[in-house]
Amino acid sequence: MNKVAIITGGGSGLGRSAALRLAKEKVNCVIVDVDEKGGNESVDMLKESGVDALFVKADVSKAEEVKHYVDETKNHFGRIDYFFNNAGISGSGKYFLETEVEEIDKIVGINLLGALYGIKYVGEVMLAQGSGAIVNTSSSAGVIGQDTVVTYSATKHGIVGLTKSLVAEYAKDGLRINAIAPGPTETPMVKQYFDANPKMKESAESGIPQNRLGTPEEVAELVTFLLTSDAPYINGEVIRIDGGFTNTKF
Ligand code: NAD
Repeated sequence: MNKVAIITGGGSGLGRSAALRLAKEKVNCVIVDVDEKGGNESVDMLKESGVDALFVKADVSKAEEVKHYVDETKNHFGRIDYFFNNAGISGSGKYFLETEVEEIDKIVGINLLGALYGIKYVGEVMLAQGSGAIVNTSSSAGVIGQDTVVTYSATKHGIVGLTKSLVAEYAKDGLRINAIAPGPTETPMVKQYFDANPKMKESAESGIPQNRLGTPEEVAELVTFLLTSDAPYINGEVIRIDGGFTNTKF
């Protein structure tokens, strides 16, 4: 029987790439996103690659919408084997004291509350099954400090904390929960920004020992490895995938 994955933020970037990579392992996918167009496009691509796929529109910062995407998944597929808890946003790039309260609330709501709600409702299903694997998306800004991304960095450090602490509570029940910490990766969002600011791209690349940005496909390989049974004894890890970037900062 095909395994079933939920991928939040699956309408673009890292989420879409991971879903398409999981489809190569014959994993059926539920794409969760606020963006209907991107979400439906991902579902079409998944179906073309031969797996069953479903789009559920949801804002992950709203607990009732999170419960809804979990209920829809149970109704359609009956189980949840893998959860890529990935939806997230960055910020305006302002220094923290100049940042509006609304922006702080929005980033914390999507990146941190959205991830916690996701684990709460998906975790209930996995606990009842006695198995399940979760990958949470942190960031290089979740393992080092960086200017202009204070709120984002706080949420991504939070992802590290929840990953490690959940393992202390639920590893004994058959759950594996890991996090990835990508450096700058060429998703559509980042590419658009760098295309408009080529100097920023040069500067970002020059700070990375491998001298280039990551690709969504490289991150998708790691996510698939961590979710599938290729990694049965890896639990509570935060795996950096950043071309050596954060290594040079410790
Ligand atoms: P992206 O913008 O390409 O994809 C993010 C997706 O999340 C979009 O489809 C968007 O519509 C969706 N989304 C946004 N708010 C949502 C909400 N409230 N509810 C549901 N869906 C929502 O970005 P990406 O680069 O693929 O980022 C994915 C994750 O990776 C994020 O958590 C981001 O912080 C993290 N990350 C990205 C990079 C990078 O360089 N691209 C580096 C480190 C971490």
